[in-house]
Amino acid sequence: MSGFCRQPRIYFPRSMNHAASYTFLTGTEWDERFALAEALASPCMLCPRKCGADRLGGEKGYCGAGGTLDISSIFPHHGEEPPISGTNGSGTVFFSHCSLRCCFCQNFQISQENEGEPHRESRFADRLIDLQTKKVHNINLVTATHFLPWVLKGLKLASEKGLYIPVVWNSSGYESVEALSLLRGIVDIFLPDMKYGSNDSSKRYCDAPDYVEVNQAAVREMFRMAGPLKCDEDGIAYRGLCIRHLVLPHGRSGTREIMNFISNTFDPSDITVSLMAQYRPMYKAETFEELRRGITRDEYESARNECEKAGVNAFCQEISELDGRFCIDFATRKEEELK
Ligand code: SF4
Repeated sequence: MSGFCRQPRIYFPRSMNHAASYTFLTGTEWDERFALAEALASPCMLCPRKCGADRLGGEKGYCGAGGTLDISSIFPHHGEEPPISGTNGSGTVFFSHCSLRCCFCQNFQISQENEGEPHRESRFADRLIDLQTKKVHNINLVTATHFLPWVLKGLKLASEKGLYIPVVWNSSGYESVEALSLLRGIVDIFLPDMKYGSNDSSKRYCDAPDYVEVNQAAVREMFRMAGPLKCDEDGIAYRGLCIRHLVLPHGRSGTREIMNFISNTFDPSDITVSLMAQYRPMYKAETFEELRRGITRDEYESARNECEKAGVNAFCQEISELDGRFCIDFATRKEEELK
């Protein structure tokens, strides 16, 4: 993420006492969540693909994940939305593999080429504590759905070691309500994508002909659990939902349909959208003629108008500022801070 130029309205807390929700979870509650998550992992139904791989037995699924917690990179990230990165950065964890697998993924090295290495949960927990020691504002878990049991176990261990900053669930938005519901009282901030407003596009670009319905149900559940985006007196998010929407060329991301869903489903003033202009034809995007270029200024303005018509709060970007700084080479960037 980069170049955000518009600060939306933000909510301020009545009290500054907003420790991360998971710090209130008992050991028994953690264990119950962990057991439920494990039950979803073999045969695997952690994501809407429900491919049934025996993950706990080490079998790899459609997403490429098997029986280990594979992580590519962990570092403070200063390029996320202002309430997420704040001044000290967001403690970002990039997991390997992905269940959505978009043809234009800018993180294709990790999502589809398996960059990363296995981590024991205890090492994962220690690395979260290291991030907190660096004074990041949150733990930002990028596309973690397919590792839900492993992640819950690691978070529990980290909590026992003193982790207290909020967890951001940064996802493709292609997730089941059943899996998401296990995050209640653990994740405080949801940062899901709404990638496609039509199943024609999702079928074409990631072979997910049910993306729209699945994604809408997921976003409803996230809002039910976390509510509107709330920030502290320094403008740092501590709770709530922020929806990301990456504008694709030729209107292929369906911005209007997504904004219609938002305005028909929620009070739009409760919803914050991050309207992303950083699309680049990467990975297999060249396969599709309509995806072979970045977006134009007119296309972005048109998407911005749809946000305004819907009445949502929006973080926007200046196309001229997008210089590729935040395209990450995951083969080389492992821990180095991203400024
Ligand atoms: S998370 Fe991976 S293994 Fe599990 S159902 Fe989805 S694609 Fe299959």
